[in-house]
Amino acid sequence: MRPDLSPSTLAVVAGRPAPGPDEPLSPPVVLTSTYHAGGPRGYGRYGNPTWEALEEALGLLEGGRALSYASGMAAVSAVLGTLPVAASVVAPRHAYSQTLVQLDALAGKGVLSVRRVDVADTPAVAAAVRGAALLWLESPTNPMLEVADIPACAQAAHEAGAVVVVDNTFATPLGQRPLDLGADVVVHSVTKYLSGHSDLLLGAAVTRSDELYEGLLAARSGGGAVPGPVEAWLALRGLRTLHLRVERATHNAGVLAPRLAAHPAIQRVRYPGLPTDPGHERAAAAMHGFGAMIAVELADAAAADAFTGSVRLWVHATSLGGVESLLERRRRWPAEPPSVPEGLVRLSVGVEDVEDLWADLVIALPDG
Ligand SMILES: *Cc1c(COP(=O)(O)O)cnc(C)c1O
Repeated sequence: MRPDLSPSTLAVVAGRPAPGPDEPLSPPVVLTSTYHAGGPRGYGRYGNPTWEALEEALGLLEGGRALSYASGMAAVSAVLGTLPVAASVVAPRHAYSQTLVQLDALAGKGVLSVRRVDVADTPAVAAAVRGAALLWLESPTNPMLEVADIPACAQAAHEAGAVVVVDNTFATPLGQRPLDLGADVVVHSVTKYLSGHSDLLLGAAVTRSDELYEGLLAARSGGGAVPGPVEAWLALRGLRTLHLRVERATHNAGVLAPRLAAHPAIQRVRYPGLPTDPGHERAAAAMHGFGAMIAVELADAAAADAFTGSVRLWVHATSLGGVESLLERRRRWPAEPPSVPEGLVRLSVGVEDVEDLWADLVIALPDG
């Protein structure tokens, strides 16, 4: 496969079987636990042609070699599992909450030590990363949409001898390619935009380092956090329209964000596409598009709960990145850091008609 093709084209053509008369256009779902002896796979935990098709496509999109996992958190855990005992990790103060929970659990057992930083504050990241083994970045962050200067943070981390991991779930490889920006590993919750239809759990880690790849592969083969072939097949099918879905959802978010910012019931909107957003200039310079995640702040938890309980077209649910628009108050989860405002509602903008989406929000929002 030609890596010079644009990401939109790769999303459509990567991971297909080699062409030939009567060869299928799409990879089959290979349901087997074992293989006839003599080949490189040998057993179903070591490899599967359907995962490999998805991994080829994800690797080409991110510009490295991909490994797929049973979930995004399995990929996160796999990458954390490469660290030596007692290693020091620098992590975002705001990030996907289960990633922070996992880090805290490992720190609580003395397996790792963790320092939290504001990833938008590059000097703070550079200071924190001295003596660390790993810098974990999310950008934009969940759910506050803070934007990191990935190249500057990666450079500081590498000078300190730390490995750089970027959770690229929010931006997708269409929004930014962290391996090109200096990251050593990219992780994804493929559950979200990449598969895009809220019908499966799957994760991925992508790297250019042979050493990291081989270590992760050996750990996955032994540890067993492998995806199901049906999930891998569905994810690859979803990936075929990634560019169309992301384009439309980003357009919709760009229409909704300024309207939300002007609504009297909303105290603050965080969306890197708004010119007034603290992350705007950095995102405009470094990202392709501003994504389709928006966070809005209402007066308090009660106002936010009334809002999320009143939508009819939007779905009140957790998760993100599907074709349908979803929203939720993040602090309803006890694991969410207390620095996330109680009244913050995170919106995952989908691909529906934007005026239908807006009309539903207007009816559900308090008058202000
Ligand atoms: C959902 C998510 C994860 C975890 O992925 P799962 O597939 O749910 O295990 C990790 N990081 C981010 C940013 C996410 O949104």
